[in-house]
Amino acid sequence: MFEHSPLAEELIKRDLAHVWHPCTQMKDHQQIPIIPIAKGEGIWLQDVDGNKYIDAISSWWVNIFGHANKTISAAIKKQADTLEHVLLAGFSHQPVIDLSEQLVELTPDPLQRCFYADNGSSAIEVALKMSFHYWKNIGKENKQKFVTLKNSYHGETIGALSVGDVELYKDTYQPLLMDVLAVPGADSFNMEEGEDTEEYVTRMFAPMEEVLQQQHDTICAVVVEPLVQCAGYMRMYDARYLSLLRQACDRYNVHLIADEIAVGFGRSGTMFACEQANISPDFMCLSKGLTGGYLPLSVVLTTNQVYDAFYDDYTTLKAFLHSHSYTGNPLACAAALATLGIFHREDTINRNQNLINKIKAESERFEGHPNIGHIRQTGMIFAIEMVKDRRTREPYPWQERRGLKAYQHALNNHVLLRPLGNVLYFMPPYVIEPDQIELVLEVMEEAVQAAIIDD
Ligand SMILES: *Cc1c(COP(=O)(O)O)cnc(C)c1O
Repeated sequence: MFEHSPLAEELIKRDLAHVWHPCTQMKDHQQIPIIPIAKGEGIWLQDVDGNKYIDAISSWWVNIFGHANKTISAAIKKQADTLEHVLLAGFSHQPVIDLSEQLVELTPDPLQRCFYADNGSSAIEVALKMSFHYWKNIGKENKQKFVTLKNSYHGETIGALSVGDVELYKDTYQPLLMDVLAVPGADSFNMEEGEDTEEYVTRMFAPMEEVLQQQHDTICAVVVEPLVQCAGYMRMYDARYLSLLRQACDRYNVHLIADEIAVGFGRSGTMFACEQANISPDFMCLSKGLTGGYLPLSVVLTTNQVYDAFYDDYTTLKAFLHSHSYTGNPLACAAALATLGIFHREDTINRNQNLINKIKAESERFEGHPNIGHIRQTGMIFAIEMVKDRRTREPYPWQERRGLKAYQHALNNHVLLRPLGNVLYFMPPYVIEPDQIELVLEVMEEAVQAAIIDD
């Protein structure tokens, strides 16, 4: 780590006196200093001592057009001087109207209705409740269960945690959670050597088919993260699985909830990951990149068919009486509109192809490495999995915290990577330059070397 100035020392001390950090064993900070950041610019974060770090994970996957982006900042400033917030029940405002029109335009045709919340987990809660409530409103009261994929992640609130399947976050709270049906998916990591992808996907779809076939009368919806299970160690699967899933959901009269909170807005290479399977879900949850990484906002898009099942006289009590204080906040909507404006003006999805190809080319440095068990990429998401032995894929014991060593090595080399266990991944803001991609993957390679040394 870098030397600290008295200012940094002071901030660190004051932070640790009162701030409880997310997803952190606070005791780790006895050894590993917290890093007070003073400012950001583009892909760079700068700490209070002037040390700079490339934000190679987009500050937990939210940032897409760089820190302190002039366009987005200006839009928020303008909105702040006009209308900072108004409740969205009984009232409206132009930013939320414009944003809803644009989201409906961008997403597949059947998605026509936008319900807002203020973070990803809350969007999942909305989708779960809406699906359940839809079936109740149309008289199918037995439909109460949700199906999810193994190793999936949908957030941290109790409902969202229930439909997730990452042990590390979930196990402790098990007694509080609702029962869900967790089915293995078509994780590319588990594909047999030489197996054809189509055959593999078909084979791995069987358990899903079976659950839906046998229990569809009691199932509301299947919840999935299309193409990439980001918090689930960046595991990836083929788009054909989603096509099969859409067909099966139609056949068995079950909703499909697409959690595009992480993969939406170009992360998967297309604007939305569902496009790669040419499907439309019944509910699409969006957040993270929605505001360019500026402000918390989330939205659930759904169909007129769902909407209409709630639309009736008040006294039928069919309305969706769910709300959050900051639902549809105008500042966040202004940030989202500025973000979508950049996508449009700069033709970001097509322009990113160059970056995607560069990542692919640079990833070759990891081929055949004795301690890398799997290399994978979907669009702007790249990941490698460190193992004890490439051939057997024996994992490193989690207690050895190899990922943490990689994290520290990368920070010392001015790159912010924050591995998930033994998985190192790269998920940069789209304003990164090709030579900066090269630099980051070089540092990532050195970070692997630092992590695999036994001490
Ligand atoms: C981050 C994430 C969530 C939760 O969003 P929060 O804003 O952190 O509550 C849900 N689903 C996926 C796929 C995510 O990556």
